[in-house]
Amino acid sequence: MPLRFNFCPICNEKITFRIEMDDIDSRQYPAPVYIVCKSCKKLSTFYVDSLLRVSYKERDKKPGGIKTIETS
Ligand SMILES: [Zn+2]
Repeated sequence: MPLRFNFCPICNEKITFRIEMDDIDSRQYPAPVYIVCKSCKKLSTFYVDSLLRVSYKERDKKPGGIKTIETS
């Protein structure tokens, strides 16, 4: 289960989360997954590629995600 470091697109705090293939709908890449920032508690959408690397992110909830991931 890969561990990812990134930054919240809303508050820019560093976040850490674990993601696995079950967390995304892999019929289409980049695949959206919802991330809840541990600092600001807000939800954003991260898009990951087939290796679960973050391609880009949006500040709000976009369609197509199947899971919400907590951060630490
Ligand atoms: Zn945040």
